[in-house]
Amino acid sequence: MNKKTIKDLAVTGKRVFTRVDFNVPRLENGEVADDAKIKAALPTITYLLEQGAAVILASHLGRPKGQVKDNLRLTAVAAKLAELLQLEVLKSDDVVGPDAERLVSSLEPGQVLLLENVRFHPGEEKNDADLAQAYARLADIFVSDAFGTAHRAHASNAGIAAYIPAVAGFLMEKEVENLSRTLHNVQKPVLAIVGGSKTADKISVVKNFLKLADTILLGGGMANTFLRATGIAMGRSLVEEDQVENAAAIMREASKRNVKISLPIDVTIASGKKDTAGAQYVAVDAVPAEQMALDIGPKTRIVYAKLIAKAKTIIWNGPLGVFEVEPFAQGTIAIAKAVAASAAFSIIGGGDVVAAVEKAGVADKISHLSTGGGATLEFWEGKELPGIAVLQDK
Ligand code: ADP
Ligand code: MG
Repeated sequence: MNKKTIKDLAVTGKRVFTRVDFNVPRLENGEVADDAKIKAALPTITYLLEQGAAVILASHLGRPKGQVKDNLRLTAVAAKLAELLQLEVLKSDDVVGPDAERLVSSLEPGQVLLLENVRFHPGEEKNDADLAQAYARLADIFVSDAFGTAHRAHASNAGIAAYIPAVAGFLMEKEVENLSRTLHNVQKPVLAIVGGSKTADKISVVKNFLKLADTILLGGGMANTFLRATGIAMGRSLVEEDQVENAAAIMREASKRNVKISLPIDVTIASGKKDTAGAQYVAVDAVPAEQMALDIGPKTRIVYAKLIAKAKTIIWNGPLGVFEVEPFAQGTIAIAKAVAASAAFSIIGGGDVVAAVEKAGVADKISHLSTGGGATLEFWEGKELPGIAVLQDK
């Protein structure tokens, strides 16, 4: 990575404003449902503490849109972090107000303070300069470890960098280095897998993968839209009609570039996501008018697994079916196992697909599970991410 990291600066005795991504899934009672994002930031936090820095952590949670929302306070997150660190974690009741200032002014080296949800402040998402300066006044150094928000230019992950030295944390470094391996000096053949439901959001990712990949396997709602573009009636399946023409254009471009786009040859259908008893396999051109394609079928799994076995680099976003419901999780599980069995360098990015691969029990056999959703996609679109661009060059 061509950006400086916390190893390139002396942090001992310094106050370090560390932007992390603690935007965790929550239970209804507000407790942390999954602490993976907190765990991912621990290497940076423990390093700073061991070096004798005073650590000020900042994160957003949910979408409070510039207002204080009691159900989006970071209290439960602070408690979870304290449990993981085995250390007291102080928490302010405001973002940069009197409580934060009071706690920061008495913060000692080796202590941790978590500021309140930065998106409670209306200036955060506007990248307001006054707010960015207020953050900077709290600290000597800015460390960015929030890869998940790196595609946004907000005050706590981009604006602040204009006022104090700004470097990357270990998670940011790991994400950038791993993701760069799929863009530069890539080991061929490259295989991309794209599934999920948000076709309109992801069509540009498929388009960019035409430049990177030798083969693209499609599944999920994404595949339905492409199948529709080949003229197949998909019954009541999730098809984004306004993306059908884009899908057709991508297939034309793929054949020009000699990129193979593989579509399902069979699917698992049912009358709806809840119709687990009605699940059955049919050929892709035999989806009845009243049924929906909710997963790739068993023949497709075999074809896809064979292509996966030939790849040297694998990039995957989006589950291949409705993995939350057992009969429609089988395609995603089979593909996760095929990717895990391959010796290729493999990266999986996207909130749902990462959850699916964890559920399949093969997460430890994947080279890199990216913590970014939108940020990972924008990286793969070839965009420069503002939260990375602001960090000091090596
Ligand atoms: P990611 O979070 O990995 O980027 P997305 O958010 O785009 O993925 O899509 C995940 C969602 O797509 C899941 O909730 C899943 O149920 C849904 N999905 C996958 N395949 C289908 C399908 N064939 N029909 C409807 N929804 C689907
Ligand atoms: Mg998702």
